[in-house]
Amino acid sequence: MQTGLFEGRVRVPYAYGCYGYTRGGGKTWHGGIDLVGVDEETIRMPFYTAADGSRKAIAGRVITARIVTDHSNKTWEWGYYLCVQLDAGQTPDAVNYLYFCHCDRLLVQAGQTVRSGDPLAVMGNTGNAALNDPPYRHCHLEVRATATGRGLDPTAYSGTENRAGSYGTAPETRLQIITVGPVSQGDADAILAVCAARGLTDQGLYTSRWA
Ligand SMILES: [Zn+2]
Repeated sequence: MQTGLFEGRVRVPYAYGCYGYTRGGGKTWHGGIDLVGVDEETIRMPFYTAADGSRKAIAGRVITARIVTDHSNKTWEWGYYLCVQLDAGQTPDAVNYLYFCHCDRLLVQAGQTVRSGDPLAVMGNTGNAALNDPPYRHCHLEVRATATGRGLDPTAYSGTENRAGSYGTAPETRLQIITVGPVSQGDADAILAVCAARGLTDQGLYTSRWA
């Protein structure tokens, strides 16, 4: 299952990557949340999760997909980034714009329509993410009411709480073994041993017993 932007698990590695974190006596204010996909690097259009935990698919349109290299424009800090404008009336909150920043590369173009689960970009370290200490690949997710406004609480989209931690569950590993002809008990045991060595539990694994 997708958690926030990623299939599988998502991590907020650092407290300073949380929304609203300030430093330098309030001079620097973090307007988004820094997310790391644990099981994949593909950034996907998130779902909207309501306060009661229910979640719904949302749709929107990519209105910006670019990198700004001119350092006199503060947007350079976002590296390769996307802005998705949500279709009107989808969520009960004030959010209309989602920003996905510091991408390695973008998988969509301006003008494209996207919905929850669609791949948008590959997680990266572009823009001033490279100044993070230590540098690490992540997505800065920022949500806004207006395109030029301040970041709002992103947790209805991030799949996380606004604090460092690990969220979600690992994707299920499905394994199908097809055999031709009869399998001895020794063969079945050998297959199980291989699975165990690869960290696959016997959950959902069916063994045939041949008398
Ligand atoms: Zn950030």
